[in-house]
Amino acid sequence: MEHVQKNIPFQYIDTKPSPNKNRKHAIVIGGLLAARVLADAFERVTIIERDHYPDTPSPRAGAPQSHHFHYLLQRGFLILSALFPTLTLDLKALGTLAVIPTTPPFVSIYAHKKVFNGPTNREVFFIEPVKIEWRLYRQLIRRPEIHIRTNWEVTELIATTTQEQAQIRVTGIQIRARGPEARIDRLNADLVVDASGRNSQLLIWLEERHFALPSEERIASGLGYATRYYKKPEHVNVAWYMMRVHSAAPHIPRSGALSTIMPGIWQVTVSGMAGNYPPTDEAGFRQWLRNLVSPDLYNVLQNAEPISPIRGFRLPKRFCTMPSHCCSRITQQKWSKQWLPVLSTDNLRVF
Ligand SMILES: Cc1cc2nc3c(=O)[nH]c(=O)nc-3n(C[C@H](O)[C@H](O)[C@H](O)COP(=O)(O)OP(=O)(O)OC[C@H]3O[C@@H](n4cnc5c(N)ncnc54)[C@H](O)[C@@H]3O)c2cc1C
Repeated sequence: MEHVQKNIPFQYIDTKPSPNKNRKHAIVIGGLLAARVLADAFERVTIIERDHYPDTPSPRAGAPQSHHFHYLLQRGFLILSALFPTLTLDLKALGTLAVIPTTPPFVSIYAHKKVFNGPTNREVFFIEPVKIEWRLYRQLIRRPEIHIRTNWEVTELIATTTQEQAQIRVTGIQIRARGPEARIDRLNADLVVDASGRNSQLLIWLEERHFALPSEERIASGLGYATRYYKKPEHVNVAWYMMRVHSAAPHIPRSGALSTIMPGIWQVTVSGMAGNYPPTDEAGFRQWLRNLVSPDLYNVLQNAEPISPIRGFRLPKRFCTMPSHCCSRITQQKWSKQWLPVLSTDNLRVF
């Protein structure tokens, strides 16, 4: 933590109330961070989440990626800490935060060359998403503006034609309780934010309400991951904290990465694109490692002891990206540095 540059300025949202906008109630579908940002600008923010948030940090169906440690870049960490000032202490208490110092380097292996990167002046954090999410959730439920309805799923949008402008606008959502009763409720809002992730039904909902759909780009990503944890053999000394064996698209869609997520513990994640999903059985996983563009990763794991099952994750072959106007907006604004301003209602196309 001491390594983090604390003086990098950033502003995540202009919280000055806009005189022309009604900011009484915002609804967020699925997103904790979006709700946190909006809580500075709206009197009331309701999060609708179809899962039940567990009482202790543990994986849930709606976030299958939580079995995999995540890299969090320094900028992301700073933004999170600004939104949740006690985050560092909370996560240290939960034993989740690993800071990788600027050295030693990481090694990248391509089909025809090996590159030793670093040192850089940037930190990488390895985080357990499940613990971060649990902590953020616990903090958010204490804020009086924020109300969370778990075990409810959004099923459709409510749209109204405004009299003044004869314009159709989204003015709320319909939700259904999960469980045998399947009760229905309807909520009105001045703003609805869809943060429901990769399975978002937004375009279907908009179409049902006869909105002109934003142009979109479809990518046949067919991305799959499989992750396993290993104990680093004591006698092995390596001069890197991370090794990446890259794919060589389009002919070699497979890749693999080994990361030191805490002293003596390696996370190994293999991935494939275009429907080349990595296997999660013992023999298949080993074979996948062996067939990467270089045998280095396979070789380094020869004497490492596996300490977890192999967990897989698959995205469908057809995966819809964001509407293109949003993408270009984000790219123009340099995604890694300034993604949160995009959440400002002034920057989004509002339906
Ligand atoms: C194996 C793997 C490794 C990854 N590693 C990294 C990494 O190292 N670094 C990194 O930055 N990213 C990483 N990612 C990507 C990262 O996990 C995702 O980008 C991120 O989790 C997306 O978050 P989200 O909140 O947008 O969506 P989600 O996490 O999908 O959350 C959406 C939420 O909405 C809820 N929801 C959905 N539909 C409805 C509905 N109709 N009504 C109510 N609620 C609904 C869901 O239950 C869920 O809680 C990785 C992903 C995978 C799979």
